[in-house]
Amino acid sequence: MRSCSKMEHYEQLIFRNATVFDGEAFIGARDVLVQDGRIAAVGASLDSPSSSPGDGESGPAPAREIDATGLWLCPGFIDLHCHLRDPGQTWKGDIASETRAAAAGGFTTVVCMPNTQPAIDTPSIAEYVREKALREGLARVSPAGALTRGREGLQLAELAGLYAAGCRIFTDDGADTLRPDVFLHAFEFLSMLPGARALIHTEVPELAHGVMHEGEVSARLGQSGIHHLSEDIASARAILTALAAGCPVLITHIASGVGTLPLVRYGKARAGAMGRPDLVAADCTFNHLLLTDEAVERYGTAAKINPPFRSEADRLALLEALADGTMDALVTDHAPHTFDEKSQELSAAPFGCVGFELMLGLLLGHIAGTQTPAGEITVERLLSLMTSGPARILGVGASLDSASSIAGKAGQDPPLQSQLSPAALADFQPVLIETSPGRIAAGLRADLCLIDPEARWTIDPQQLVGKSKNTPFGGWEAKGRVLMTVCGGRVTHDAL
Ligand SMILES: [Zn+2]
Repeated sequence: MRSCSKMEHYEQLIFRNATVFDGEAFIGARDVLVQDGRIAAVGASLDSPSSSPGDGESGPAPAREIDATGLWLCPGFIDLHCHLRDPGQTWKGDIASETRAAAAGGFTTVVCMPNTQPAIDTPSIAEYVREKALREGLARVSPAGALTRGREGLQLAELAGLYAAGCRIFTDDGADTLRPDVFLHAFEFLSMLPGARALIHTEVPELAHGVMHEGEVSARLGQSGIHHLSEDIASARAILTALAAGCPVLITHIASGVGTLPLVRYGKARAGAMGRPDLVAADCTFNHLLLTDEAVERYGTAAKINPPFRSEADRLALLEALADGTMDALVTDHAPHTFDEKSQELSAAPFGCVGFELMLGLLLGHIAGTQTPAGEITVERLLSLMTSGPARILGVGASLDSASSIAGKAGQDPPLQSQLSPAALADFQPVLIETSPGRIAAGLRADLCLIDPEARWTIDPQQLVGKSKNTPFGGWEAKGRVLMTVCGGRVTHDAL
């Protein structure tokens, strides 16, 4: 079922009669033809692939036709926030194992956080991740660069070098950047690099010494709490800094729905008034849509994550933000840890849980169709927050394939606003890491996933293909299963 031997490269792939979700909406039943790594055609009753002379022993396999009647064909999912644990913590997960898990969950592009060992704070570490992913990976991997050296919050990391090595997202994730002056300088620097964005794990460390949300449950359990002000104050700082510096920011894994989302809405309104609607964006994990701090009582360390599961009011506020458009993307914060690590007492166990293989099934099984004061959370909304939403944040469309395009000659959207002069950019040849388009249309990269929307299954952590199995969702019912994932025309997951 999950054997790698089936991950073949076909000369042509044709999906027959698939219910196509194009990144924004379902567009009806279509045939989709994949050839040379791209979507060659989308249409009704496309001709059968001509059996070309490539049936020899070597080279890609010949055409494969898939009857996709009743199945959804979606753009490959994009995750802006995950941990692959490579380099340095490969007993938890590595690029090969975790991109296999990503492919099994329908993901074709993942942005991995730089809190590795060593941190991704120099071009050589970013290159290590990029090259290993190209060699061993089953998804496109876009490494996020650290904002500061060693993620210590004191001195800027080699931001230009990291950018040149392909990083577009910059963060000290796992923690926030300590010094506000360094934080501002980092944002000012990034504002000069087209397509770069700060991703901020918003946390005031002095308010975040605990192991779970500070509230009634932490008091009852006698556990130290992480106050919601930790997130709210740090989010205000990140949003105001982004607006002041003209540097796009992504407020990531929001848990404090009640306190932080109004700040995001304020930031978006001001960014819009400035004519820079790209400046403020927000995401949350699917985990925080499903659980509250009571989960710590029920699931123990499996539900210890950072930021923590907060109150029911916070959870409802996050759901409303999905429906009203405040949220730009959904992320996994896939965070593998071993059984032994998670078997320690609550105060000692590490934060985090895995997510790649669970996100779709839990969202379709438990969140789709939810009513909020801002309206219903539709399937289309959920899927767009995993495809076109994150693609927009990665600036797909603003293709940066040469210094000349950085200097602004090529027509991109959104318009590149670099303060660097063309002369300063002349020697600057940044690597471009291809990411998924988050859409289905002829001509685009063939990054796709095929889903059985009616499949119902029970989550068994031991069945997960990633190296670690840490999740609070064992035994939960899920709906919708990824049957096949295609990345650049290559089949990266095949459960058909
Ligand atoms: Zn984080």
